[in-house]
Amino acid sequence: MAKHSIVLISGDGIGPEVTRATCRVLEAAGLSVEWVELPAGATALEQGFDNVLPERTLAAVKAHKVALKGPVTTPIGKGFTSVNVQLRKKLNLYAAVRPVRNLPGIKTRFDGIDMVIVRENTEGLYSGIENEVVPGVVTSLKVASEVACTRIARYAFRYATRRGRKKITVFHKANIMKMSDGMFLNSARRIHEDEYPNIDYEETIIDAGCMKMVQNPERTDVLLMENLYGDVVSDLAAGLVGGLGVVPGSNIGDDAAIFEAVHGSAPDIAGKGVANPLALIMSGVMMLNHIHEEPIAKKIKSAYDAVLTEGATLTRDLGG
Ligand code: NAD
Repeated sequence: MAKHSIVLISGDGIGPEVTRATCRVLEAAGLSVEWVELPAGATALEQGFDNVLPERTLAAVKAHKVALKGPVTTPIGKGFTSVNVQLRKKLNLYAAVRPVRNLPGIKTRFDGIDMVIVRENTEGLYSGIENEVVPGVVTSLKVASEVACTRIARYAFRYATRRGRKKITVFHKANIMKMSDGMFLNSARRIHEDEYPNIDYEETIIDAGCMKMVQNPERTDVLLMENLYGDVVSDLAAGLVGGLGVVPGSNIGDDAAIFEAVHGSAPDIAGKGVANPLALIMSGVMMLNHIHEEPIAKKIKSAYDAVLTEGATLTRDLGG
C-alpha cells in the first residue's frame, strides 16, 4: 500500500489527546502514513511563531493536500484572525461537509437520522466586510458570487451522486434576500437541471425548513446552504444526534482538504483524560474515504459502532 503523507495539526486544549488517539486508531486499522506535524493556534504562539497560523503550516497543507486537525484556541482580543477562517480563505476550502447520523447506543429524541449538511464556506456574511455608516449605524455585507454559488452547488450534487444520496434540499431566504439568496438558488437549480437531473431537488425557506427538519429529521437527506445558515443548521443537526462530540467535519477545496471535529479545544477538560476522541476519529474516517482508503474507513466505522453498541466504555459526555 502506498504511504500517505498527511499534515497533522494537533491543536490546543484537548487537541493533542484526541489527535493522538485518532492517529493510533488509523494506524492500527492499517493506514500507512507519515504524519507531518505542525503547529497552529495558541501552541504556535507558545512555540515562538508570530501568527496563530504559521506560514510553514499553511505551506505544508498546500504541499501535502490533506490535513487532520485538532481544535485550536484563537486568543481573544489579540488581533489574530481565527486559524479556521485563515485556512478556509487561504486554501479556498469552499465546502464544509458535515454528515450527521444517529449512532448505535446513543439515545436521542430522534431515530433514523442520516443527513449531510453541505455549507458554502467562503462568502456570505462571513466575508467580514463591515462598515460604520454613521456613528450608531453599522452594516455587514452579505456577499454572493455566481462562481462560488455554482461551485458549491456542483460539489453538493457530485457528493450526493458519489455517496448514493437521493435528494438535495436548498435552505434559503430568497423571499427576502432576493439577489444574494436568489443567486444561490438559481445556481443550484441550474446545476440540478443541466448536470444532475437524476438527484431529487427541492427548495425550502430556511425557517420552515428548520421546523420540518426537527419534526421529521429522518426525511432529510443532503442539505445545501450558504455560509451562515450552514453554520447554524449544522449545530442544530448535531443536537439531534447527541451533540458536537459525535459529529465529524471536513473543509474541502479543489487543491486541499482539512478534516476536523466540530467541537472546540475544551480547555475545561484538557489534560484530564476524559475527552471523547470519537468526533475526530469520525473525521479521520471521512479523510480515509477522501484519500481512497475506503476499506480502512469501513473497518474503523464498524469498530466504533460496535464499541457504542456495547456501551461499556463510553466517555463522560456520552453518559459513561
Ligand atoms: P468547546 O467545543 O471546546 O467546548 C464546549 C463544551 O463541550 C465544553 O464543556 C467541553 O468540555 C465539551 N467538549 C467539547 N469537546 C469535547 C470532547 N471531545 N469530549 C468531551 N467533551 C467535549 O467550545 P468552547 O468552550 O466554546 O470553545 C473553546 C475553545 O475552542 C475556544 O477558544 C474556541 O475558539 C475554540 N474552538 C475551536 C474550534 C476549531 O478549532 N475547530 C471549533 C470551536 C471552538
